[in-house]
Order: sequence, then structure tokens, then C-alpha cells
Amino acid sequence: MSSNPVAETVSSLMPRAKEELTALVAFKSVADFDQFPRSESVGAANWIAAALRAEGFQDVDLLDTPDGTQSVYGYLPGPEGARTVLLYAHYDVQPPLDEAGWATPPFELTERDGRWYGRGAADCKGGVLMHLLALRALKANGGVPVHVKFIAEGSEEQGTGGLERYAEQHPELLAADTVVIGDAGNFRAGLPTVTSTLRGMTLVRVKVDTLEGNLHSGQFGGAAPDALAALIRVLDSLRAEDGSTTVDGLAADSAWEGLVYDEEQFRRDARVLDGVELIGSGAVADRIWARPAVTVLGIDCPPVVGATPSVQASARALISLRVPPGVDAAEATKLLQAHLESRTPWGARVAVEQIGQGQAFRADTGSPAYRAMADAMAVAYPGQEMQYAGQGGSIPLCNTLAALYPRAEILLIGLSEPEAQIHAVNESVSPEELERLSVAEALFLRNYAAS
Ligand SMILES: [Zn+2]
Repeated sequence: MSSNPVAETVSSLMPRAKEELTALVAFKSVADFDQFPRSESVGAANWIAAALRAEGFQDVDLLDTPDGTQSVYGYLPGPEGARTVLLYAHYDVQPPLDEAGWATPPFELTERDGRWYGRGAADCKGGVLMHLLALRALKANGGVPVHVKFIAEGSEEQGTGGLERYAEQHPELLAADTVVIGDAGNFRAGLPTVTSTLRGMTLVRVKVDTLEGNLHSGQFGGAAPDALAALIRVLDSLRAEDGSTTVDGLAADSAWEGLVYDEEQFRRDARVLDGVELIGSGAVADRIWARPAVTVLGIDCPPVVGATPSVQASARALISLRVPPGVDAAEATKLLQAHLESRTPWGARVAVEQIGQGQAFRADTGSPAYRAMADAMAVAYPGQEMQYAGQGGSIPLCNTLAALYPRAEILLIGLSEPEAQIHAVNESVSPEELERLSVAEALFLRNYAAS
């Protein structure tokens, strides 16, 4: 990689990048203004706006989004006729949680054992730096060959959807040929990975009623229809013997075509207790990225402490269904609803209410953008081939952008490899990953412009 001028430039820019990340991490930009003052978020937003202006961005602005936070936008014009690439990151961070659990202060970027520790170092202030480094490297080596739109969201971690709604209200603003979401991560440090699918989800509440009121289990138990027992049976009907999710009519046999997730590694990552089996069938990657997965998130029933000898008249559960790419979330919701209704035993009354829904996402990995990224990753990570991973969670902004710009390619890369411990105490970023991914992004922009 050392013979590559772009890589040499990024390498020379790393000391400055560390200073800049130190400055950015110092803002306690948690977008919960009851916990952290708004001025911290505004400070981070202004820092990014200044950095964009210094790189020659135009129309740099702090956008007031409907959730009361601000996203930073800027536009860097490229050569005439060039394609437009949208670079995404977010500057808000998770709260530090237990500050005493941090080995060093969460808002002071601190180097230790070759990593830089600090809240947001990887998720996603490092992503802001990755975009800046990539653009600087190109400017130092012939120029940025595409039009660049830059957006840094101010409330990603809160899930309040400010930028999604703003984008829907201003559909031209973020329009692009390709979107690089800098908020994902390599499967492990050193293994270049693009996240190419996200599971969708549906969330329903189910309520079962059987009696006008609770009854004494000694007097009535045995014949009185127990709502809690009915609920347990219907919830159990959502799983096969091996734990696979079984929703009537919903396909559960898709296979993952990207990287192989070793079963032993998954056991370690998931911290499964010795002797306890994994559930589901097929390869691990099939189960977590390509197939539906049901989880009962909560049950309303009497807690053990204080429970009385009663047959329950009503019981309620909140059920999440992760929907694999290729399946319409609305269709999955319908199937789940029908399953719950038809599988509730004993003629018990059942009511199913939809609480939330998000579509799955699948990129076209055969597109020019993906080929351009694969070639760039091969240079930035010598000897490694770009891997495709899925992600279990959904990123609502991805769906918003995919819906607004159906022809745009979306690539998810970033610094959140497993060692980064994002959202936990002692979050850190690997400077090597920052360097290599910045090189990859720069070369990607160049390859993509030429393709
Ligand atoms: Zn993030």
C-alpha cells in the first residue's frame, strides 16, 4: 500500500486526524438535552460545518430537523458531468453510561495499546474523520472526481427520525447516485467488509382474553380457560423444535451468500453458556441475516413475587419479528397477525395490534459502485478480498434513502468492528482501520468516477 500516493497522503494526515478526533470527541454530543446540554451538540455541529467549509464545501448549513436536532449539510462540486456521492455519518453519540466503568474519561480521546478510546471515537465521529481524510487525500492527488454531498446527522442514536423526516420533506437535498453510510464496520479488524443487507422488522402486541375476571385456581383451575396458558401456547407455536422461527406462510429457508460466520466464533460473540445449543437451522449467517427471527420482547402477566393462586383472565405479549431481505415487512406483519389469530387455542379472544414496522434492505452488490468499492478495498487491505455481511438491525435512514432514490446504490462501511465496543463503556477506534478505510473510500470515489 505504501507505493500508493493516496495511501501516503492519508498516512501523513493521521497525526492531524487524531487531533481533530480529539476535538470532536470532547463535545458531549448526546442528543438527549435533558441529560446533556444542547450546546454540546451545537458545538460538534459547528465543528463539522467549519471543517467542511475549510475543504471548500458550499451551502454548508445546520439543518433544523423535525425532532429538534440539527444535521450538518454541505456540497462540494466536482467536475462537470460527474456523478454525485452522498457521504453520511452522525455526530451524536450514545451516553457514556457508567462513567466509572471507563478506564479513561469518555470524552477525552486517549491512546492505549494502539487504539484511541473515547465515546463516539468509532460510532460515528471516526466516520466523520474517515470522510474528511478520503476527500483530503483526493484533493492532494489530482482532485475529487465526483460531486460530494456530506450529511452528518445529529440524533441517530436517539432513533427520533429527524433526518428521515427532513429528507422526505426536502427530497432533492440528499439525491445522489451512490450513498456511502460510514456507520457500519468490518466483520473484524483487518477484514474489509461492506454491509449489504439489513433485516427489516415488525412489532406487534397480542392480547388474549378468556374470562370476565381472574378466578381461584383451586376452585376453577382445570376447566376454566386460562388466558396466560393460551398465550404461552400461541407464542410457542412461533418456533419449531430446534428453535427456528415458524410463522405460517413465511419462508424461512433462505441462505446467506456472503461471508461465513464461524459457529464457535458466534458462540463467543453471543456469550452462549457452555452446553447450551444455538437455535435455528442452516449456517449461522443464514439464521441471523437471511431468515426471519421472532423474539418475545415482553409478557404482561403477574410477576412471581406477589402472585396469587389465580387463573388469568387476560395476558399480553410484545413480539418482534426480524424480516429478512426480500420479504415485504407489511406482508410479514399480515402473516404474523394471521398466525397469532389462527393458532390461539380454545376459542380464546385474541387481538393483534401492529406497533411498528420497517422494511429490510438489500444492496445490488453487482453494481458499478460495489465493484468500485471491492477494487478499492483490495488496495487498502492488501491480500484481502472484500466481504459481504448482513446486519440484524435496521437503519431507518437507509430505507428512507432507498425509497427516495431507488436507483442510488447504498454502501455501508465504517469503523465499528467488534473490538470498537460501540455503545458500551470503553469504546475505541483502531487508527489502522481509520487509515485503511479512508484510503479505501478515497480510492472508491476515484474508481467509481472512472467506471
Ligand atoms: Zn452509529
